[in-house]
Amino acid sequence: MNKDIIIIGAGPAGLWAAAELADRGQQVTVIELKKSMDTLSRACSTQFILDSDYEGEGVEVREGELYFPKSNFSVPYTGALIPVNNKYYHSPKDHVIRFARDNGNEPFSYKFDKEKMLKDLYELCIQKGVKFLMGTTAIGGKDTGDGVEVEIRNKEGVQTITGSKLIIAEGVNASMCQVFGLNETRMHMATALCLKFIMEGITGVEDNSWNLYYGRAYHSNAAVIIGPSLYGDGIYEVTISGDKVNTPEQIFENFTTNSPMAKNFKNAKLVKKMGCFVKAFNALATPCKGNVIAIGDATAMVEVEVQGAFLCGHHAAKAVVKELNGEKGWEEYTKWWQDSFEFNSSDYMRVAQGYALVPVYTDDELDYLFSLVEGECLYGTYSQYKTPKLIWDSIHQHDDTIKAERPELYAKMEKMNQMSLADSFNK
Ligand SMILES: Cc1cc2nc3c(=O)[nH]c(=O)nc-3n(C[C@H](O)[C@H](O)[C@H](O)COP(=O)(O)OP(=O)(O)OC[C@H]3O[C@@H](n4cnc5c(N)ncnc54)[C@H](O)[C@@H]3O)c2cc1C
Repeated sequence: MNKDIIIIGAGPAGLWAAAELADRGQQVTVIELKKSMDTLSRACSTQFILDSDYEGEGVEVREGELYFPKSNFSVPYTGALIPVNNKYYHSPKDHVIRFARDNGNEPFSYKFDKEKMLKDLYELCIQKGVKFLMGTTAIGGKDTGDGVEVEIRNKEGVQTITGSKLIIAEGVNASMCQVFGLNETRMHMATALCLKFIMEGITGVEDNSWNLYYGRAYHSNAAVIIGPSLYGDGIYEVTISGDKVNTPEQIFENFTTNSPMAKNFKNAKLVKKMGCFVKAFNALATPCKGNVIAIGDATAMVEVEVQGAFLCGHHAAKAVVKELNGEKGWEEYTKWWQDSFEFNSSDYMRVAQGYALVPVYTDDELDYLFSLVEGECLYGTYSQYKTPKLIWDSIHQHDDTIKAERPELYAKMEKMNQMSLADSFNK
């Protein structure tokens, strides 16, 4: 049996696990379906989340590196950083909820260059002696008890490689997790198609801001998002999520020609388009089994974010070495995983209200609710778990007014409050 550690996926989780395992003296083989790391075609908003409590420890963005204070390691990063200082939630009639720190003077996230980051990490892994099988897809495999077999397909055909341990870092669609029997208790919540349109000439958008448009008037159940891009001043990213029925292309067409934002797109031109599809499961509570550990988005409720993927890579590398030494690496990783990520807590599984603004509430109701908190400045955060909580805490300050002025709306809010996230996806 080959003693290599096999890693499926050269995203941030797989690359960082490979780098640290190589540092710990392990032979590592990474299987990656992309032919090269030169370009990034998968959509990602690429923002670091600066909340100090995020994923149990936050990340400090320092000169030339990202430092994780509690786990005490750093990942090199020398690419661009664009501060994001304001976040605005827009209702159909443009009542706005603002999120900022120090009145917009302190960023709550940094946009970064993921393409450069991954390319640099790949080069670093090569220098450390990690072996890559690029243009190669993992398609099957089994745990043999004393190690693992992974079936791979590339231009040379189908073959089987063997290793002592397997790290599945394949990202959100989690098909190898399925093959190795890790998905058995997971619920598939939804499959989303996501497109990112990088555009110049959009008017009325503030630089260094993140804007989310909520309501049927914008033609999407998920918010249409406009934020900064890495392509220069005045060039923004428009991010649209849809599905096979209500496609992102159709939503884009309607948003830019027949919504309250249409006037801002009169002279807009497309610079680039990127996409991805996302199969969303609930989080995998126990991500280790036999000789296999799954990490990063492959095990998350939707996504761990890039900084969370580095944390997974770091803790998985430690866990693998412990297991090889007969210690309880999997148990330690599982505890860290369950304690660190917000989506693993039952409290955060109750964020249904936040995700379900549309279509649960009508445009008129959204205008009314947003108008109640317009003028306040909520704490600046990019966190998709903290944000709905902040919004609803703020709206609930006005419960007496809502009860008096809009009793039917208040009853709807109370009903939504009883729902779980799974219920809201099944609606
Ligand atoms: C629209 C959108 C916006 C986002 N915005 C942000 C953001 O602002 N900030 C942030 O930090 N994160 C953001 N994310 C999330 C972020 O992209 C992920 O959390 C992160 O990339 C997860 O890293 P990973 O290594 O676990 O998986 P991935 O980055 O998905 O990497 C998985 C790798 O595995 C490869 N692979 C998959 N299957 C196989 C196979 N069978 N065989 C071989 N190789 C395989 C893939 O090609 C890929 O290279 C966003 C995601 C989306 C979709």
